[in-house]
This record gives sequence, structure tokens and C-alpha cells, in this order.
Amino acid sequence: MKKPSYHACGKNDLILVAGAGGFIGGSLVRSFTARGFTRIRAVDRKPLPEWYQRTPGVECLTLDLSQEKNCRRAAEGAVEVYNLAADMGGMGFIERFRIMCLRSILINTHLIEAAYRAGARRYFYSSSACAYNTNLQKDPHARALKESDAYPAMAERGYGWEKLMSEMFCQEYTAERGLHTAIARFHNVYGPWGTWDGGREKAPAAICRKVIEAKDRGTGTIEVWGDGTQSRSYMFIDDCVSGIDRITHCDELRATPINLGSSELITVDELVSLVEEIAGVQLKRKYILDAPKGVAGRNSDNTMIQRMLHWEPSIPFRVGLKKTYRWIEQQYSARKAGKQTVRDVA
Ligand code: NAD
Repeated sequence: MKKPSYHACGKNDLILVAGAGGFIGGSLVRSFTARGFTRIRAVDRKPLPEWYQRTPGVECLTLDLSQEKNCRRAAEGAVEVYNLAADMGGMGFIERFRIMCLRSILINTHLIEAAYRAGARRYFYSSSACAYNTNLQKDPHARALKESDAYPAMAERGYGWEKLMSEMFCQEYTAERGLHTAIARFHNVYGPWGTWDGGREKAPAAICRKVIEAKDRGTGTIEVWGDGTQSRSYMFIDDCVSGIDRITHCDELRATPINLGSSELITVDELVSLVEEIAGVQLKRKYILDAPKGVAGRNSDNTMIQRMLHWEPSIPFRVGLKKTYRWIEQQYSARKAGKQTVRDVA
């Protein structure tokens, strides 16, 4: 079998990470530094004290990247650009704030143009499984989604259509202007340093927090959105960061959307049971049937990533969830004690 190509930039080349104050962007910055890259520019709209992680030695800028001039400033001199900036959250957020999700198109539209003008060599875009045709996801036992299932298009309203359109921007910048673009369709990502409360958190973090709260308050019950049968796959953050690197630097994947997700399918009920097991409790479940729940079932078909990269995300859900639970537990206790949470790693 032919080995996939891998062309990274030099250790002293400037790398721009957009959305670096968030979960995945912050983890990506930390991984670049750990691997010896010396010039990282981290950009986010949030003021610095609100960034989830800040890695020492990194240039951190607060800029709103939905504005063209800020994208030009951010991309100046960049050799590689990673776009992880978007207004996003779990189902509760993306079903309610569709306009805000759609407006993230401004970020990618200006950033890819700025990257092109700055002469960047590679541009990474974080797409989502929400770009897939929702008609294929009406059954909790639905078959896993393969890359060609995005068309004919019937993406998730708001958020999913923005992802699909931004993918197309990337593909056309490659076709017409020769910019090397890389596009990964993430399936739910979870792990330490992710959003765990406030309304934007996704199912694994939300369930961990609810179990911790129930234990702390001794309520003995947990509210579960939906009837517990919805199914998803969840990718641990370390697999996500590794996948971004592999996809961005593979020549054969130029302008080619590819799944980046786990193929281990988990129902919401299984997720709750796993967290209960980690926490050492058993709670009475109260199902909220009219809560936002998204599509009935979604899984990642990893045939293409296995074929192209000879690799796929493989950290077992149970292993990643344990680490995530412990981290959220620490955050919860710290907050209760009046300390700062999800802040500087320095
Ligand atoms: P996140 O919310 O933790 O991080 C996104 C960051 O983008 C935030 O810090 C936010 O402040 C920043 N941002 C938003 N608008 C901005 C603007 N105008 N200018 C500058 N910064 C801005 O989310 P995340 O989980 O780290 O997601 C990163 C990317 O991956 C997003 O594109 C998201 O759509 C995509 N994605 C994530 C998941 C997941 O499960 N986390 C799944 C599919 C796709």
C-alpha cells in the first residue's frame, strides 16, 4: 500500500490558528508548541482572560475575524493558516441561534482571501458532520456517513449550510487560485478544555456536569434531552489534533472534505450509564422529550481516512470520557471554591 505523503512547514515558519481561545484551537496551539514550532500566532474574538488555554511563548491577539481588515492583520506572513473560529455549540445552541451560526461564513470568507493574499502555503478548514444530508440521519441505527453523503445537499439548518458553503470556498480557492486547502468534517469532539456549561456545551460534557451536579447536590436525578436513543460517535481531542495535522499535510487530500471522527457509536442512554459508572452513582433519568436533540443517529464512515492516511481516530470513548469527567470535576470544584476555571495553562 502506498504511504500517504506528509509535508509539514518548517519549525520557524509562522502558523496562524484562528479560534485559538476555544476548545480545539487552543489544543492545536498547545500541540504545535509541544512539537517544537516556534512561531505561532493565536487569534480569537474573546478577550484574553476568557481564552480556555493560553500557551506560553505564543503571540496571542484579540481580533474579530468576521472583519476583513482583521483577517489581513492576522494572516500577515503566515505560512499555514488553521481556521477553527466559528460561533458554535451543542444542539441547544445551533438549533436556537441559526443566524449567528450562518454569520460564521464571514470569518472563512475573509480569512481564506487573506491567507491567499499573504501567500500562505496551506489552509485548514474545520467543517462538521452537520454538513451531511439530514434525511440520511432519521434513524438511530442509520448507516455511517461517507463523504459523498453531503450531496444532494440537505444540511443541518444554519450551522450545517454554513459549513457546506465554506467547504466550497476552500475547494474553489484550490481550483481557481492554487491555494492548498484541507477540509475535515469533524464528528463530535470532546475532552478536557472544552466548553462544559453555559449553553454551548455538547452532550459528553453536559452529561458529565449534570452527573457531578446531581452527586454534589444529592438530587438523585438527571435530566436527559430526548428519549435516550439518539446515537452519535465522539472523538477525543488528542485524535482530533493529530488528524488535523495528518489531513493538512497530505497532498492527496488537497481540497477534499474528509471525515475526522470516531466510528464507535454510542446512544445517549449508554453515555449516561458510562458517566454514572465513572462517577460511581446511579441516577433516576428524567427524559425531556421536547428538548433540542438534533438528528436521530449519526456515525462516521472511516473507509476513506483509513485508505488515505492508514490511520483513524482510535482512542476508546471510555478512556477519553474518564479523563474528561475528572477534568470537569476539577473545574466544578474550582468554581465552587470561587477560583477561575478554564483559563491559563501557564
Ligand atoms: P469553540 O467554541 O470552543 O471555539 C471556537 C472559537 O472561535 C471561540 O473561542 C470563539 O470565540 C471563536 N470565534 C467565534 N467567532 C469569532 C470571530 N468572529 N473572530 C474570532 N474568533 C471567533 O469551538 P470548538 O469546539 O473549538 O470548534 C472549533 C471548530 O470546529 C469550529 O469551526 C466548529 O464549528 C468545528 N467543529 C467542532 C465540533 C466539536 O464537537 N467541538 C464538531 C464539528 C465541528
